[in-house]
Amino acid sequence: MAETDSIDEERLEKAINWFARYIAVQQGGRDVDFYSGYMQMHEGFKRELFRNGHDALRLETWDKSMIGSGRILDCVVAGLQSKDGSGQNIVVNFHSVTNFKEKANTDLPLAEDVLFNLYEGDDDATAFEDACDFFGRWYPVFSYLMFLKDDTKYLPVKSSSQLHGDRFRKLNIDRDCLRYCSWNNYQVFLNVHRQIQEKLIEAFPENQISLLDAHSFVWTLYAAPDDFSFKMEEKLEKIPGATDFVNQVADQLKYREKAQQEDEDLERSLEKSGIEGRERVAMIKARLNQSEFRKRLLLRYKKCCLCGASDPRLMTASHIKPWSESEPAERVDPDNGFLLCPNHDALFDQFLISFDDDGKIMISDSLSSNDRIFMNIREDMKVSLREGNKKYLEYHRNRFSELKH
Ligand SMILES: [Zn+2]
Repeated sequence: MAETDSIDEERLEKAINWFARYIAVQQGGRDVDFYSGYMQMHEGFKRELFRNGHDALRLETWDKSMIGSGRILDCVVAGLQSKDGSGQNIVVNFHSVTNFKEKANTDLPLAEDVLFNLYEGDDDATAFEDACDFFGRWYPVFSYLMFLKDDTKYLPVKSSSQLHGDRFRKLNIDRDCLRYCSWNNYQVFLNVHRQIQEKLIEAFPENQISLLDAHSFVWTLYAAPDDFSFKMEEKLEKIPGATDFVNQVADQLKYREKAQQEDEDLERSLEKSGIEGRERVAMIKARLNQSEFRKRLLLRYKKCCLCGASDPRLMTASHIKPWSESEPAERVDPDNGFLLCPNHDALFDQFLISFDDDGKIMISDSLSSNDRIFMNIREDMKVSLREGNKKYLEYHRNRFSELKH
């Protein structure tokens, strides 16, 4: 099935290594931050389009009784006509909006019923296909409307753009998903970007990478040669910190490979040593203290997830689902970890505290009020969660409630 199409990892890694160099030179400095500098200047307009377009839809005012009144059409047209900070919309052009309005007015109640379902229905796939059947298969228009609905799930598509096809070719992505507007093709397009997002998260652990950032990354590849060779190495070397940054990106891209290797080594030494009980636990702790897993959590969080203590010498990479109960892939998944100070690590490790799905702390009843004070925990504490933490936390919470200290 087309939806499972996966991206060529090797080419993507090359592209990301090129991208780190390119941005470091463009910005004359190290950090790739999608929210400032070069990326903000060239790609930030898409976030503005989303905000303005999403607001223009005024979804909070929608109601089924509006179908046929023309008010839903007005909202959607306002969304399509939204502009970025410089007064432009390069995704949806003026003619498309005119055609859209004309088509809607041939049968306004049906048109508004279709649009209502697109935003308020619970089956996006069917609503998308119904909209295409009624209005026409206009990729830029309908992908844009989905994007305005939810920018964490959907992206705009400019099907007419030769350039986007060119970038897809560089990444060995099947360009058919750009050519014909259908829900299935759109899923392939989105799925490819989700995979790119995942890889960018690996490469840039300090950034919060959104789906839209993956889209911006793809656009930036217009400047890359087909083999992703980099022509400005000399210039790069003269920029303070740039080489370190580029090396860090390359290093992070190898994270999983290295972390898995470490994990296998640890497993083997445990087996060979035959030690059990507390010594075994101590050995695991000591090894994790030097692990790639911990390095990655340090890059991601920089301080204790709970209290803000930040000396890297004191920080522990704490598995959410315990190491010894995790599958190999789970042991090295950064989403299965918090960076914690010694006190908070001890409490979390022994299931004396846990967190709910909003990140709010849960404290074992067995912990005395004195110890709560000395161990620095309070009922109002919170960790900020990533989506990926939740399945591991559920496991941790189950252990927390089972133990009933
Ligand atoms: Zn702490």
